[in-house]
Amino acid sequence: MIIEIEDLSKSYSLGGSMIHALDHVSFGIEEGEMIAITGPSGSGKSTLMHILGCLDTPDSGIYRLSGENVAGLSSDRLAEIRNQRIGFVFQTFNLLPRLSALENVELPLLYSRHPEARKLAESAMETVGLQDRMKHEPTQLSGGQRQRVAIARAIVTNPAMILADEPTGNLDTRTGEEIMALFHSLNDQGRTIIIVTHEPEVAVRCQRALYIRDGLIRDGVGGH
Ligand code: ADP
Ligand code: MG
Repeated sequence: MIIEIEDLSKSYSLGGSMIHALDHVSFGIEEGEMIAITGPSGSGKSTLMHILGCLDTPDSGIYRLSGENVAGLSSDRLAEIRNQRIGFVFQTFNLLPRLSALENVELPLLYSRHPEARKLAESAMETVGLQDRMKHEPTQLSGGQRQRVAIARAIVTNPAMILADEPTGNLDTRTGEEIMALFHSLNDQGRTIIIVTHEPEVAVRCQRALYIRDGLIRDGVGGH
């Protein structure tokens, strides 16, 4: 199991009352799975994604990432885990505008002063089919191409899992399907992929869906 969640809770206090954003949830994700986390607005998806991505910590419960309980780690250690083990893809791509596509992809490796940063970034750009767009800046690329650059940036550190938050939310249907096909091919190469989405058509393209409602999780079955 790459992810083991046991009895995890996170609450927010709001105007004197408690909101149970995650209410004693338990589930596991196997290495190599492609899984959707889905549910209506306000159900707890973002809260869960922030915890899975080591961007936030739970109030109680266990989160084991590749066997290590990360629920109680310091923010420095969590930052290290984020950089080494998790690739993030966001709805709004989050590329730096003044850098070329290749420089954006290289960035996660520069923090760790990786000696082969340039070579690995070029190879990631090839993996997403953008070998002829390396020197372009984000504004010179289409939405679909920008999301491909963001995916190249997510895989360049060879992370154990990719965590995508509404990755097709800003794309038209056809481009969204191309991005899902790219996630499928990365998954075929053995990468674990977790996609947070409120779009049922994205969820059914995953092997499995976790449906979340009112901070509670229900296992569902994806389309393929
Ligand atoms: P989703 O991403 O599925 O829309 P969220 O995880 O953002 O759901 O929110 C789950 C619940 O927790 C909602 O009721 C939301 O209003 C509440 N919530 C989320 N973040 C905060 C916060 N920082 N302060 C107070 N309430 C919050
Ligand atoms: Mg959300």
